[in-house]
Amino acid sequence: MKRRQFFGASLLAGLPFISRAEPGYIAPGDPGYDQSRQLFNSDLSLKPAFIARCRTEVEVVKAINFAREANLAVSVKSGGHCFMGSSMSDGSLAIDLGGMSQRVYLPESQKLIAGPGVKLGKLYDVLLPKGRILPAGSCAGVGLGGLALGGGYGLFSRQWGLTCDHMERVKMVNGVGELVDSRDDPELLWACRGGGNGNFGVVTSMEFQTRPVRATFGAQRFVARGFSEVKAIKLMKAWFEIAGGLAEPIFSAFVFNGKQISILLTTSFTTGGPVFRKACAALRRAGFSAKSPTNSPTARALRRYYGQPGPLPFYNVSGGYYHGYADVKKAAALTAQKVMGTSGLIFQVNTLGGAITRGPDSAYAHRKFPFMGEIQAYWERKSARDQLIEDVTVIRKAIGAKAHYRNYPDPTLENPSEAYYGESLLQLKALKIRYDPDNVIRHAQSL
Ligand SMILES: Cc1cc2nc3c(=O)[nH]c(=O)nc-3n(C[C@H](O)[C@H](O)[C@H](O)COP(=O)(O)OP(=O)(O)OC[C@H]3O[C@@H](n4cnc5c(N)ncnc54)[C@H](O)[C@@H]3O)c2cc1C
Repeated sequence: MKRRQFFGASLLAGLPFISRAEPGYIAPGDPGYDQSRQLFNSDLSLKPAFIARCRTEVEVVKAINFAREANLAVSVKSGGHCFMGSSMSDGSLAIDLGGMSQRVYLPESQKLIAGPGVKLGKLYDVLLPKGRILPAGSCAGVGLGGLALGGGYGLFSRQWGLTCDHMERVKMVNGVGELVDSRDDPELLWACRGGGNGNFGVVTSMEFQTRPVRATFGAQRFVARGFSEVKAIKLMKAWFEIAGGLAEPIFSAFVFNGKQISILLTTSFTTGGPVFRKACAALRRAGFSAKSPTNSPTARALRRYYGQPGPLPFYNVSGGYYHGYADVKKAAALTAQKVMGTSGLIFQVNTLGGAITRGPDSAYAHRKFPFMGEIQAYWERKSARDQLIEDVTVIRKAIGAKAHYRNYPDPTLENPSEAYYGESLLQLKALKIRYDPDNVIRHAQSL
């Protein structure tokens, strides 16, 4: 079969050993290159030497072999939502799995077989009409690949566990171009449950157990405004105390944005239940005013959290995992001062715990923590960018958490692998040597 050549003479001059690439590979200057390297975070502009848009395992094997031959690092992209763009790097061969977005629901076993490139919104479109869900994140555009391989939490995680806890089988092309199936190598499944992001292979297919979902989903928002910094700290403390006692079907988020604090409380049951109402009453007593509760058909309710289609410029990092308010106490005053004084800066804490604490044996190392923080910065004017980024890092360092979520990466962490993988790190490092001895698959924070 005749193969098309996709890159120009100037690039080939830099890579004299490459005579031709597989069909579908694109390089700088080719039509579609700039579109294909676009990440969700438009503040990032990374320029791989080639982008291989793979649709099958065989194409992934060929891409790895091509990269090995050409001595190129391999970066792996599913949904392109990584905060710091670790799915692409300058001069690499970027394997784009956006086309591997198959999603097959097996009614008899209630399992889902999915490609890494499927976006969460599309996944829910398949599962929700069948009364099923894969507990995962809330934003529709996030790729299942990156989300599940790093953990994956959301509105149903306290009730059912993380996305990676539902993973029962994976197939991966490793760094030497071999296809590995977790049925033959159970340690691969262990690793991909929280430790699989761009570290030692390209995951091409995943099988998940799904869960039943009720027809109605309840939610209520609470808001506080016009507070002082001292009052903001009291509200934060009160939320941690209330959220620490929630029943497992209830999720909560604390969102401190400028001069407003919003609390989201959601439930897989209805907002009229006694446990939900007790939490609402406690929030009101703490000083939050309640918005009207909603009990909507689940598919419609979840769409409210689908987020913007993007791309957009931002700088988000993990704020760390916490046991409770005591873990953020020393940084609370500084956080309140920065957030209230800087437009575009957000400090958010989400509830974990519940079923996550009982998850299966996995590389995900931070099950014991009931809370996770995220520090976010958004800007409309580029002139605000650098100060916001500095403020994010100042807050993160002031909190000083040691454990961080792999899917909320922070380029300024001193020991990212320890922070992300904790006690799983040694075993993951050993697997890296087994699956990718030449470190072909790599990015700025890979193992
Ligand atoms: C708007 C937004 C909302 C979010 N909401 C949530 C949320 O509700 N819950 C949550 O848990 N997280 C959330 N996240 C974080 C999200 O989980 C991570 O950004 C995740 O890594 C994105 O996956 P992706 O496939 O879209 O990203 P990508 O950027 O494509 O990949 C992320 C990382 O995974 C690696 N990777 C991707 N696919 C593969 C593969 N097939 N094989 C091997 N490595 C692979 C990449 O190399 C990269 O290192 C959100 C992020 C954003 C930007």
